Amino acid sequence: VSGIEKELRSFLDAHAVLPGSSAAYLSDFTEERGLGGHADAVVLPRSAEETAQVVAWCYERDVPIVPRGGGTGFAGGAVPFGGVVLSLERMTAVRSFDPLVWRIEVEAGMRTADLRRIVRESGLFFPPDPGAAEQSHVGGNIATNAGGPHAFKYGVTGAWVLGLEAVLAPGQLVRVGGPMRKDVAGYDLKSLLIGSEGTLGVVTAAWLRLLPAPEVFLPVVAFYGGVTAGAAALQRVVGTGLAVAALEYLDGGALAAAGGSFPEGVPDGAAFLVIAEADGSRAEAERLREEVVDALAEGSLAVRTPADAAALWRWRDGVSLAVTAQRGGKVSEDVVVPFERIAEGIDGTLEIGRRHGLEACSWGHAGDGNLHSTFLVTPGDAEELERCERAVDDLFALALRLGGSISGEHGVGAVKRAHVDAYLPPAVRAVQGQIKRLFDPKNLFNPGKKL
Ligand SMILES: Cc1cc2nc3c(=O)[nH]c(=O)nc-3n(C[C@H](O)[C@H](O)[C@H](O)COP(=O)(O)OP(=O)(O)OC[C@H]3O[C@@H](n4cnc5c(N)ncnc54)[C@H](O)[C@@H]3O)c2cc1C
Repeated sequence: VSGIEKELRSFLDAHAVLPGSSAAYLSDFTEERGLGGHADAVVLPRSAEETAQVVAWCYERDVPIVPRGGGTGFAGGAVPFGGVVLSLERMTAVRSFDPLVWRIEVEAGMRTADLRRIVRESGLFFPPDPGAAEQSHVGGNIATNAGGPHAFKYGVTGAWVLGLEAVLAPGQLVRVGGPMRKDVAGYDLKSLLIGSEGTLGVVTAAWLRLLPAPEVFLPVVAFYGGVTAGAAALQRVVGTGLAVAALEYLDGGALAAAGGSFPEGVPDGAAFLVIAEADGSRAEAERLREEVVDALAEGSLAVRTPADAAALWRWRDGVSLAVTAQRGGKVSEDVVVPFERIAEGIDGTLEIGRRHGLEACSWGHAGDGNLHSTFLVTPGDAEELERCERAVDDLFALALRLGGSISGEHGVGAVKRAHVDAYLPPAVRAVQGQIKRLFDPKNLFNPGKKL
């Protein structure tokens, strides 16, 4: 038992402290690329006040604090390199729910899928829909400003956060924003905390904005023989002004990996898939769906209108795992490029794979120009993993050359830290460093991440 664990046990209840060796808290989805960590203790607070108490204790003793949600991150943000893992998993309460004004206040440890279910029962809709929603937490979504397929129409998580309760250094519980839809009094600290990956403080609760649920979700899927025809179809949907809720793609490699379980099967020769979805009232969504079918038809092998939207999105959620299953491991990034350059990003990913002797593929949120560019690895093959890291360098350079960014969703975490320097101009980097020091003068909130 570490000294830190023993001391924490002196003021927290027995269930609130686990040994630092508790394996479930030492990795996230970067485990498939070999990243693991270590900790001195794991704390599971039951309230915001207890979280503040733990942060104050750590801050006083120079002990790093690594906030943890569901551990579904792809950037190693929740992987500890010593110190205390602060898992919010026991903080799952709905603090208040006001369906008539489309608003809910929940604790940070609530699972994303539970939130969506709870509000749906009252006819409301929380649009952010990152994959892995059964495991990820609201706090983790906020800390990564997570997106998802429907971010194309509805925006990313941050667009739905009205206010946050958070513990800042050296252990003070604060509230920024709140149960109101607008707030410009002072600087926008809420937006600084959103996407800060646990490096500025610990989010303990959030007020979230909701919408009346669309009456129907009507997806359209279209198959193409390759990237050129598929990318032209994506351009037509956007260029003809069709306001779809989601606009997704899979390239040939991703489709080959996941196609076996595609509802109703994949036509012969298909090497590119587009998913678009119309939502809204039945009349309005049906009209839009017809227009989407027309826009996707040109150059396609088949266009379908699946009856079961939920089954389609369940399948789409499984794409990442299906790709991993090909070889047991993968290095998957989330570069983002201007929408009109997405074909160059997709082709460029394959070209980089060839250059480094790696099997590559991509899929992602086409409407947002967000590619999950992926290189397959055999677990334990250190040399192949090393080649992947070189391929990722080239991938990030490609994203920048195309006018994009090294991360559209997953964040920087531990794995992209070295690349942030190349991405951020010196003047911007300097301000970012100053912000970090202001919030966290002792560099104890998730050290080794983000900057
Ligand atoms: C199959 C799969 C599909 C995915 N699809 C998407 C997608 O479509 N879009 C997308 O954006 N992401 C996606 N992701 C990535 C991941 O699910 C999201 O980033 C998710 O929002 C992370 O939430 P989490 O609770 O698991 O966070 P964790 O992995 O636990 O943590 C992520 C980061 O947030 C910090 N953090 C967590 N909780 C708090 C808190 N309460 N206060 C302060 N900091 C905190 C951690 O320190 C860490 O830096 C996917 C992941 C998987 C495995």
